[in-house]
Amino acid sequence: MRERGEAGVIVGVPKETAAGERRVALVPDAVKSLVGEGLELLVEAGAGTAARFGDEAYRAAGASVEPDAKTLYDRADLVVRVQPPSDAEIEALRPGGHLIGFLRPLDQPELARRLAERNVTAFAMELMPRITRAQSMDALSSQSTIAGYRAVLLAAVALPRIFPMLVTAAGTLSPARVLVIGAGVAGLQAIGTARRLGAVIEAYDTRPAVKEQVESLGARFVELDLETGDAEDAGGYARAQSEAFYARQREQLGRRVAASDVVITTALVPGQQAPLLIDETAVRAMRPGSVIVDLAAEKGGNCALTEAERDLEVHGVTILGRTNLPSEVPNHASQTYARNLVTFLKHLVRDAQLHLDLEDEITRGALLTHDGRITNEAVAALAGAPEASSGGDS
Ligand code: NAD
Repeated sequence: MRERGEAGVIVGVPKETAAGERRVALVPDAVKSLVGEGLELLVEAGAGTAARFGDEAYRAAGASVEPDAKTLYDRADLVVRVQPPSDAEIEALRPGGHLIGFLRPLDQPELARRLAERNVTAFAMELMPRITRAQSMDALSSQSTIAGYRAVLLAAVALPRIFPMLVTAAGTLSPARVLVIGAGVAGLQAIGTARRLGAVIEAYDTRPAVKEQVESLGARFVELDLETGDAEDAGGYARAQSEAFYARQREQLGRRVAASDVVITTALVPGQQAPLLIDETAVRAMRPGSVIVDLAAEKGGNCALTEAERDLEVHGVTILGRTNLPSEVPNHASQTYARNLVTFLKHLVRDAQLHLDLEDEITRGALLTHDGRITNEAVAALAGAPEASSGGDS
């Protein structure tokens, strides 16, 4: 608690305005925890409604519920969000104020430039270092976990068969065969969820380190004849491979795709378009009624036929290209995201005031803009390049 009678940082939680977004940045339990630290919480009326957290619960947790976003933006020192702010919302942020949220730094560097021009100190949750100390602040992981789970449920509902093997008086039903391509956080959760539903699972990832994790979840790791020695960068992420590599991968994976009832693809390389891993020939070879859930849809998709935000049927195969699966499970997705934010906020706050230690690996790592400039080198390079703002393709 504060000792010096100084007012605590005012944190604002606006209602999300992006189309289809049902999550909220802080849930009532998170508000209560921050109020306990001496922070003042302003929550826009209805901010948690779509995630099933009512205004009354926020009031009971110690927040002041504001009738509109304007009051909140005018007063808040720090705004916490799920999705990036719109242009109007950037204009509403106070110069010298703070912002935390998913800010798509590598995909939308121009947003970082606008935040810097507005002199907002912004932290992008995507930039949170993936180190053990920051695990509880890792919102990419918390939301990917929900996405991996949801992907399996969508597939199970779309598939005209059941997942588990059943031996009944009416005959034996064979289990669904699920292939997971990309076994990072979402892929591993998809494996675990499909396994609990009784499917037989195979998985592939270019990072060889993943094999053991896949097998420990009871899935078979698919071995391809590809050289993957340099597949992982120092941060644990996949490196981009050559087009020749992807062509060979497509060819070899095609056989596994054709043998699967469900394919869940999650393969991503940070800052790049998603690698194309399933071509139209492979889709044609699948049995009618098979399902592909393409979690890489927002980055162009791992399947050539995926269309972002659309549920399609092509060559008898259902292809789901939804881009915001965590928002389809808004209550738990918000709860885990809020937990990430609270841990990060507690890291930034001392005596109810913000203390930004720019030497600290976590604070510096997540920092996107500060003092009127873009602090992340990679994003600054992208934002400065003429093609980044003119819609060029590099
Ligand atoms: P991601 O969402 O960027 O990518 C998803 C997966 O796709 C990755 O496993 C990647 O290797 C894989 N992939 C990329 N190209 C592929 C291809 N051509 N074929 C098949 N698979 C391909 O990754 P993520 O899930 O966010 O996790 C990335 C890494 O970060 C993982 O190693 C994870 O264990 C690690 N991580 C560490 C921490 C921590 O230490 N705090 C926390 C979270 C994640």
